[in-house]
This record gives sequence, C-alpha cells and structure tokens, in this order.
Amino acid sequence: MRKILIANRGEIAVRIIRACQEMGIQTVAVHSVADKDSLHTKLADESVCIGPGPSLQSYLHIPALMCAAEVTGADAIHPGYGFLAESSEFAEVCAQYNICFIGPKPEHILALGDKIRARGHAIAAKVPLLPGSPGGVQTQEEALKIAKKIGYPVIIKASGGGGGRGMKIVHSAEALKSQLQIAQTEAQACFGNPECFMEKYLTQPRHIEVQIIADTHGNCYALGERDCSIQRRHQKLVEESPCAALTPAERKLVQEKAVALAKSVNYQSLGTAEFLYEKGEFYFMEMNTRVQVEHPVTEEVMGLDLIKEQIRIAMGEKLNPALASRIANGHSIECRVNAEDPVTFAPWPGLITDYHQPGGPGVRVDSMIYAGYRVPSLYDSMIAKVITHGADRMEALVRMRRALKEMRVEGIRTNIPFHLRLLDHPKFIEGDISTAFLQEETL
Ligand code: ADP
Repeated sequence: MRKILIANRGEIAVRIIRACQEMGIQTVAVHSVADKDSLHTKLADESVCIGPGPSLQSYLHIPALMCAAEVTGADAIHPGYGFLAESSEFAEVCAQYNICFIGPKPEHILALGDKIRARGHAIAAKVPLLPGSPGGVQTQEEALKIAKKIGYPVIIKASGGGGGRGMKIVHSAEALKSQLQIAQTEAQACFGNPECFMEKYLTQPRHIEVQIIADTHGNCYALGERDCSIQRRHQKLVEESPCAALTPAERKLVQEKAVALAKSVNYQSLGTAEFLYEKGEFYFMEMNTRVQVEHPVTEEVMGLDLIKEQIRIAMGEKLNPALASRIANGHSIECRVNAEDPVTFAPWPGLITDYHQPGGPGVRVDSMIYAGYRVPSLYDSMIAKVITHGADRMEALVRMRRALKEMRVEGIRTNIPFHLRLLDHPKFIEGDISTAFLQEETL
C-alpha cells in the first residue's frame, strides 16, 4: 500500500494522515468547498476538492470519491467513521475497482451494520439480547402484543439508525400506537429503510462496548472495553477505559461474547460490539463495523495505534498473538469538545480567533482546529477530543480537569465549561454513572 485516500474530514482525517505518515504511506485528502482551509487538506500530501459543502454532494458522493482516488492513483481508501464508513455499497465499489477499502468486507458490513440482522447473528452466537421483537415490527397489533409481553417502557429503533437518531421511547400502549408509524416514516426519510424493531427500554443502564480487532487469518481478539455512559440524547460525550464498574469475571464475559459474535461471521478489521449493562447483566445492542470516535482511550490503555493496526490488517498482515492477552494499563478518559453553547447545547460555529492546546504528562488532543480556522456550520459540531491517561481513574480525571482548564478556544463557544462541571460532580468522580446521568443530575 503506497497511497491512501481518506474519505473523511475533521479530526479523524487528521488522525489517519498522522498514522500514514508514521508508516511511510502517502496520503490524499478530499474536501468539500466548505472545508478548503481544513487542517487535513494541509497535512496530506495531496488534496482534492470533491464537491459543494453539503455532504450528499461531497463526502457521501461515491463517484466523486472514486474519481479522486483514480486521478491521484490511490491504492486504498480509509473511510474513517460516519459518512460512508458503514456503507457496504462503498466497500463493494472499492472492491470492484481494485481499491483496498480499509475496513471490513462488504458482507460483514451487511451482516452486522443493520441492527435487525446483527440481532439475528447475536442470537445464533448465543450473545444475550434484551427481550424484544424477534425481527422487524410492521403493524400496530404486532407492536402492542410484544410490548404487552415484555412490559413498558419499550424502545422502537430504526434498523438502519445510527448516531443516536431513529429511536423512540414509549411508556404506554396509547403512545405506542402513534409512535410506531412515526418511527417508520422517519426511518424511511433519514436512513432510506423504514424497518423498525422493538426491545425493552432500560432506565439506568451503562453503555459498555468492546473493541474488537480481527485479521484476515482468522485471529480475533478483544482489546478491553469502554464505558460510554455519559450521553446527551443518546450521543456520547465522555468515554473511558476500562469501565470502573466491572468485575474481572464480567469483563472476561463481555469480551468473550463480543469475540464470539465477530467470529461467527468471520469478521475482519476493527469493530465495536456495543452492550447495555444493568444489574450485572449484559445485553447486546449493535456492532459498529468501523473505527469509533472514542478509539483513543483504548489506544492509551493498551499502548497500541489502532489505525495503524487497521491499515496493517487491510494489507493482509497477521495480528501479533500477544494481543490476545494484553490488559489495560492504567485508565484513560476522553471528553468530546463541541462547538456549542455549554448550557443550551446550541451549535456555535464560527471563526476561532485564538487557540491554545493543552499538553503535559498524560494529555493527548486529537483535533483539526487552529487559530484562524472557521468551524463550518454544515457538519458535526465536534472540534476536538481531549484524551488523558493516568495510573488510575483518579489521575486520568485530575489530568482531564487540568487540561480542560488550560485549553483556550476563543471566538466561538464550546462545551468545555460543561465538561468541567461534570468532572466536579461527586457521582461522576465516584464512577456512579448510567446513560440517564445527564437527565437525572444537575450540573
Ligand atoms: P446508535 O446506533 O444510534 O448509536 P444504539 O443502539 O447504539 O444507537 O444506542 C445508543 C444509545 O441509546 C445507547 O447507548 C443507550 O443510551 C440508548 N439505548 C439504546 N437502546 C436502549 C435500551 N434498550 N434501553 C435503554 N437505552 C437504550
């Protein structure tokens, strides 16, 4: 592999370029008109404009991406996360044009990217699920029958949903009658697939996910777990590894389940099996067939570069067998810094007039911002990930507090004050968290 095109933008494009540079691989950045001054365009060896600002006409436009790969002579494409990272169609087009897609095979994306299909594979691999509909739910009668059996509250989810969208929590039969149809209509509009399913809604679970790494030679390992329970509207804001609440036996169990699922479909590349955890039980939710936003906390505690590993897997290399027994060293926390109001969470794009990036022991910042950069309004509001590592959770937490106090992003609003309030919350400090934390607590 000599040249990789990065079909993405923002911090993940920068992250992938950095990995390529360390491996001596040439890089091609692609950018929309709105991103012409983005850091990834400056750091890559070459940069190609692929269309107007709206993602549908640029970052999601397969013909434009294939043209860019063709004219630059790229032999591989890294999709990052979001955009086309979980598009089996894109992976298939790459395969047909003899361009290496750095990710799983199209059939793995098809098998696990769709939530209903993934549930089927989980059942076959004896991975526990929440009680719910066996497959998709089409009619009101069907939905009412299932809800009666499993008990309210229930959650309706779009099979093709993602990013915390396409979910409806329902507390009564009355609400279920109207919500199912709304969910189906929205799922069709947002994800091009009306199929929805139902499961029991847990009120205070933790979100625990397992990092999977699998090569093309049949080796598949779990690289610890991440706790991503601090969420707002089902979107992760803070992630950590390891999860402070698990016993060694529970940790082993959830990792075994994740590996069993991945192996059952002969999965290859990086992937993440997501679970809910409540009262000592794990329930599989979905598998993300790509690198996750929160991969750095795993990198910090495992002493690994996951992007480089992912590229090596795509080149056909074998995983180091020592990874099978690797255990977490210390603790790592990631805070997602968004360009938004720290109280109302309203997006706050604009010109960054001044920027100071924190540093010092155990602090890492994955970002694309610089003084003079204008945060566009068209894309995700995340502008930086601050990641800390410490000998234990308390040291990682103290370092995060120090780093965020030191960080300066002038000209726009960010959620740094929100993170600082969270880091001072006694329950967060104790590690007493669930996905309901931000709804239940005042910061
Ligand atoms: P997405 O693909 O949009 O990220 P997920 O299925 O991964 O959706 O769920 C995202 C979040 O939604 C979870 O982390 C959790 O907070 C919440 N959630 C999903 N399913 C349930 C459930 N059955 N009970 C409680 N919370 C849930």
